[in-house]
Amino acid sequence: MARPTSATIHVDALRHNLGQVRALAPRSRVMAVVKADGYGHGLERVARALAGADAFGVAALSDAERLRAAGISQPILLLSGFDEPGDIERLRSLNVWTTVHHASQLEMLEQAPPGEPVDCWLKLDSGMHRLGFAPDAFRAAHGRIMALQGHSVGQVVLMNHFASSDEFPDSPSHGRQTRQQLDAFRSATAGIDAPRSLANSAAVLGWPDAHDDWIRPGGALYGMSVVEGRTGADFGLRPAMTLSTRLIAVNRIRRGGRIGYAGTWECPEDMDVGVAAIGYGDGYPRAAPAGTPVLVGGHRTQVIGRVSMDLMTIDLRGVPGARVGDPVTLWGPDLPVETIAQRAGTIGYELTCSITRRVRFIER
Ligand SMILES: *Cc1c(COP(=O)(O)O)cnc(C)c1O
Repeated sequence: MARPTSATIHVDALRHNLGQVRALAPRSRVMAVVKADGYGHGLERVARALAGADAFGVAALSDAERLRAAGISQPILLLSGFDEPGDIERLRSLNVWTTVHHASQLEMLEQAPPGEPVDCWLKLDSGMHRLGFAPDAFRAAHGRIMALQGHSVGQVVLMNHFASSDEFPDSPSHGRQTRQQLDAFRSATAGIDAPRSLANSAAVLGWPDAHDDWIRPGGALYGMSVVEGRTGADFGLRPAMTLSTRLIAVNRIRRGGRIGYAGTWECPEDMDVGVAAIGYGDGYPRAAPAGTPVLVGGHRTQVIGRVSMDLMTIDLRGVPGARVGDPVTLWGPDLPVETIAQRAGTIGYELTCSITRRVRFIER
């Protein structure tokens, strides 16, 4: 039998989520962020499902190449920008936009041979301190890039990125950092006539004053939330991935029996233990501790013992009549990936991005 482990991608959920995002930001254009293989859902598959998006955002030029090879004709933005002079030729030939966040990129654009102008998203570091020009250097950078218009540079958009937009104005922090970043962006860009883009998913959901001309949602399109204690469903979003497998063994274990590597979990009574064909070699997090929820035939139960590479062990008390072959759901519409992520000390994005190549992908 083939390994029964699969990731089902719900194409209708992707479309639904794009509709939700549009309804939340009706005056903004939508750049669908599909980096990291569409957050693990499959780059081409996601781009086709989200054909209604106004543009796509990727982190690697090779992803832009894949999208063009798949016949995707929407604009594409290289979110972290280009690294070397030769990349400018690739941007031109693929008709891909680039982020410009550093003086080294301005130099490369200044020295580029004549050719098609590349649309540039000039990035302000409004307080996250990862990529972008500092506020006091932003106007000079803007001046340099405008001097290249028609030579190596086409249209210019102004952007920033938020560090904590998942803290909403009504949260304990009152969203103080986002408020500061918004203020920094408004003052650094005041008077510059150009489209603006600030909002990632969390800002789309919780910061309408940051919607501006272009929103850049990723996670929300896959139905995921990074807002503490809230899942995508709380915002009317639908999970776009179900991760599932089957039981390949059901064993009666005596009270006191220790389960799995290092025997970390001890059976408190005689009980049935299920073994499911999934482990960290498939992308299920090894960090998920005993007690992490899992569904067996639709019944909610828990992981017990350590997750191993190919297998995990499951408490079958309370799952009447569980048998070899029963379906096991690790996450999906009935078990939010955010819940599993929280148990494993991470966010849903990391889990969906970590599905490995041996998992079979199905579209439904
Ligand atoms: C990844 C990314 C996004 C999308 O973030 P989400 O939280 O998934 O919505 C937006 N903008 C930039 C620059 C990014 O790198």
